[in-house]
Amino acid sequence: MTATHHTAPGAARHAAAPTPAAGHAAAPHDVVVVGSGIVGLGAALAAVDRGLSVLVVDRSAVIGGSTVRNFGHLCLTPQSGEARRHALAARELWLRLARDAGFWLSRRGTLVAARHVDELDLLDELALARTDRVLGDRPEIERLDAAELSPLAPVAPGAVVGGALLPYDLQVDPRDAADAIRRHLETRGVRFLTRTSVGSVSSGRVETSRGPIDAGTVVVATNHDLDQLLPDLADRHALERCGLDMLRVRADLVRPLVAPLLTGWSLIRYSAFAGTGAAEAVRSRLHAERPDLAAMDLNQMYTQLPDGSVIVGDSHRKGAAIAPFQDERIADAFLDEFRVLFGAEPVVTERWQGVYASGRDEFVVDEVTPGVLVTVVSTGIGMTTGLGLTEHVVGAHLDGGRDRALDPAAPTSTVTSTVSSPLTSPLTSPLTSPLTESLTA
Ligand SMILES: Cc1cc2nc3c(=O)[nH]c(=O)nc-3n(C[C@H](O)[C@H](O)[C@H](O)COP(=O)(O)OP(=O)(O)OC[C@H]3O[C@@H](n4cnc5c(N)ncnc54)[C@H](O)[C@@H]3O)c2cc1C
Repeated sequence: MTATHHTAPGAARHAAAPTPAAGHAAAPHDVVVVGSGIVGLGAALAAVDRGLSVLVVDRSAVIGGSTVRNFGHLCLTPQSGEARRHALAARELWLRLARDAGFWLSRRGTLVAARHVDELDLLDELALARTDRVLGDRPEIERLDAAELSPLAPVAPGAVVGGALLPYDLQVDPRDAADAIRRHLETRGVRFLTRTSVGSVSSGRVETSRGPIDAGTVVVATNHDLDQLLPDLADRHALERCGLDMLRVRADLVRPLVAPLLTGWSLIRYSAFAGTGAAEAVRSRLHAERPDLAAMDLNQMYTQLPDGSVIVGDSHRKGAAIAPFQDERIADAFLDEFRVLFGAEPVVTERWQGVYASGRDEFVVDEVTPGVLVTVVSTGIGMTTGLGLTEHVVGAHLDGGRDRALDPAAPTSTVTSTVSSPLTSPLTSPLTSPLTESLTA
């Protein structure tokens, strides 16, 4: 059986569209994307932005993977290296998509609550090192004393010694945003084929549970399930699964949480923080003080959604498979830490487990065979970086080039990103707007 999907009306074919591999019929879709999470959506966006016909295939009926299970925290400043490059591109795409697709997006940055002076030392060190002003005139890390943090975060009196504001970071509601992006892409002619498993990919062809589909370019955006589709590649990158426990709570907080809130546990996790000289002192102290929290590989952080509820997390455990049984002691620890930091009683309204790919490096990027691109974020930063990753890798390929992520030894990218134009204006005073400020169409 051959699946029949035709180029969507209005989706003009790109003059330089790649031709199908020899031996296959003319491609009914210029690009077939496997996976409809944020990375697959980003690949579809990169293709439709170039006037190409796109089909996204997913075995699920709805977008339900990591992309809807996370904090919605687009944490640019805490990234370094390739992750920062992708996050910078992703930031512009998020701003554009929030406007065009009409979903809630907050531009109020990230807050860091420091509970020990060594955490302030770490923030100061990164602030001194981060001198480039690629996003605007404000520094990327603005140090706050405890009195300055207090109006921005509902922390209990005496709970913090100070902190920081990272003004360029963003926040979305992941459940709302992913569906809105999908609907927006559909209006632009992108087709979605759900409840359809992909069993193999090759140049110009995708074999699915509904039959083969011909494609000019194939993009694999399957997150941790790369190990099922391309097991040898997954093995080469030491890919495994990371399972996370999450809660959503309600609480009578003394004031709203203006922006996502990180803690010392986050400072020893994200690469820009963890790469400072001061990080080791923070890590040693936290691990010595709280071996119980260290054992669950805690990243104590919070995001407040527009309805006032707070997403609380998260723990991490890795392996080839993640047991579905969530240990209630982890939830108890989350709630205890919530009480200490906010001085408020949380009431749990939802619990869930998330899983993402975890590998030796932060990304698995490959062209496994001509025209078959793999774009997997192999650590917990896919919301921050995924749209930039695909713009760089898939966009460069469709433009006839090759992004440096496919060839890390290459000194520079061969293709200029197309995302620099839509929303390059610097941000102004992210903190002066009301909590409900959003970018909507
Ligand atoms: C609890 C949690 C909190 C997180 N918090 C953040 C955060 O605040 N900020 C941040 O930047 N990142 C965060 N992350 C990471 C981020 O959510 C992920 O990196 C990102 O969502 C990965 O997107 P994806 O599209 O690769 O994967 P997914 O959203 O999982 O999508 C993959 C899709 O591929 C489909 N698929 C797989 N195999 C096949 C196949 N063979 N055939 C057909 N379909 C297939 C699946 O059905 C799925 O829909 C968090 C992750 C978790 C779990």
